[in-house]
Amino acid sequence: MANKKSAPELNKEQWKARLVAMREDLSQLIALHHEPHAAPELDQTTVGRVSRADAIQEHEMASATQRRRQQEIAKIDAALSRLEEGEFGFCVTCGARISDGRLELDPTTPFCVKHAK
Ligand SMILES: [Zn+2]
Repeated sequence: MANKKSAPELNKEQWKARLVAMREDLSQLIALHHEPHAAPELDQTTVGRVSRADAIQEHEMASATQRRRQQEIAKIDAALSRLEEGEFGFCVTCGARISDGRLELDPTTPFCVKHAK
């Protein structure tokens, strides 16, 4: 029987554990930084130094960070379902095997180097 010349088999369980751990970290961060949608209160100790505009800007930056975390979770979920379907580690555009080095950097990437952008 001819050997496949493809890269070594993906360690599915290892990637799954890693993705699940990443997801848990993000969920914790989201829960930790969760705040009501109300407009920010001015901290009495900073009144006079920090304008309300600054406080609002800070609040918006925090919201943007939370949104980015939510997007990361969506990417992780997508990677997990590709893992279940046996498609994890392969470029969704051309089907090429994504290098382990690349997956190490970002296990959620669905693209090979060529199709990353
Ligand atoms: Zn590709």
